[in-house]
Amino acid sequence: MSDAPLLSRIADLAREFLDTLPHRPVGARADLAALRSAFGGALPARGGEPGAVIEHLAAAAEPGLVASAGPRYFGFVIGGSLPAALAADWLAAAWDQDAGLYACGPAAAVVEEVAAGWLLDLFALPPTASVGFVTGGQMANFTGLAAGRHAVLQRAGWDVEEDGLVGAPAVNVVVGEEAHVTILTALRMLGLGSRRVVRVAADGQGRLRPEELRTALARLDGPTIVCAQVGNVNTGGFDPVGEISDIAHERAGWVHVDGAFGLWAATSPALRHLVHGVERADSWATDGHKWLNVPYDSGIAIVRDAAAHKTAMTGRASYLVQSSGAERDPQDWTPEFSRRARGFAVYAALKSLGRDGVTALVERCCRLARRMADRLAAAPGVRILNEVVLNQVLVRFESAGAGDGDAFTKAVVARVQREGTCWMAGSKWHGMDAMRISVSNWSTTEADIDRSAEAILAAARTEGGKA
Ligand SMILES: *Cc1c(COP(=O)(O)O)cnc(C)c1O
Repeated sequence: MSDAPLLSRIADLAREFLDTLPHRPVGARADLAALRSAFGGALPARGGEPGAVIEHLAAAAEPGLVASAGPRYFGFVIGGSLPAALAADWLAAAWDQDAGLYACGPAAAVVEEVAAGWLLDLFALPPTASVGFVTGGQMANFTGLAAGRHAVLQRAGWDVEEDGLVGAPAVNVVVGEEAHVTILTALRMLGLGSRRVVRVAADGQGRLRPEELRTALARLDGPTIVCAQVGNVNTGGFDPVGEISDIAHERAGWVHVDGAFGLWAATSPALRHLVHGVERADSWATDGHKWLNVPYDSGIAIVRDAAAHKTAMTGRASYLVQSSGAERDPQDWTPEFSRRARGFAVYAALKSLGRDGVTALVERCCRLARRMADRLAAAPGVRILNEVVLNQVLVRFESAGAGDGDAFTKAVVARVQREGTCWMAGSKWHGMDAMRISVSNWSTTEADIDRSAEAILAAARTEGGKA
């Protein structure tokens, strides 16, 4: 069955790629046209020999790969792959288990059950909460909000799973003005709509203002869901979730927390104050593929009321959390039916780090973000726009000679991207162009930060000199 030479060969190819990560240019080299011509052409009538297919695939892909798994990729909020997580993911592919049902993959089901317990423990969330291993933050938000939709409508005497939304009591959805786009996408998919949400003002760091929430809720009647966020994608700022939960619960509302990366602050005694009261919410979404550094795709949906979670996600055995004996069927907690066994990588990541290692990873990234901010801020004409409370840094370049700070900042970002020492994208914050830096990778060192800060400042000097 096995093709041992092929599997050995891909181990070599993978190792060669990983070995280039510390020094290859961070951005892709090939453009769209080159990649289309490298991969394109008609589907061959006759199949190729697997080894040749893989050699071609690897060669064609190489110039189109981004070193986002490497130590100097600071774009979006990405993270790399811990060695144990990557290795476990390879095995998951080879084992090819259907992780939907215990019966199809008992080991996959139990590994998820164990990893779920570890995650609840790490985040200090209720040990009886339920956990679904989904594809990412998007589907974790969808899952938490689906459970919320179920619960608030059930309290209003409506069975949304059986009867749908046609004729249902209207559900109010309140979001902070800085809610992530995936919250709005989830609401669209859930039939709750993105335009009809009530938006609540945020403060200068993008944190939802609880007094504004109180005012907004006083004007609303009926079933209500409130969406909070821990970890703003620009500033890293945290909504005061404890206070938000207390306010929403006074009105029997459901509180969903988008904690794609920020929830990981809960794993650090030094950072835990940022998520104060987060355990009082009703559902939580986070990512494995960002800060935990497991390969894509890996997200985690957590719900306090396991029955609401299960009823929202499965057509069978409504309200019965343990319907079929002692086994946990993973599909009861996710939107999917059949799926890959993504729990193996989460399990391996957590076990290879241990509790202390998770804390150290999170704290190290935050320390490195602070170091980056300090290095950059020491140069003239560089302004840090956010309070660097976590792993995110927003930088603006506005040298006196360079005129418009927006154009200057965009030019610096573009030059850094071309130069290749490190990579990050531009962003807009309160109408201003900014460079957005996220430190989320397990392998980033102080030397990577210093080298990247130097490359950024060199780009700023060059662009400033042109003005
Ligand atoms: C990344 C992110 C998401 C979406 O997560 P995916 O894993 O990309 O689907 C949602 N919310 C926040 C705050 C994020 O940073």
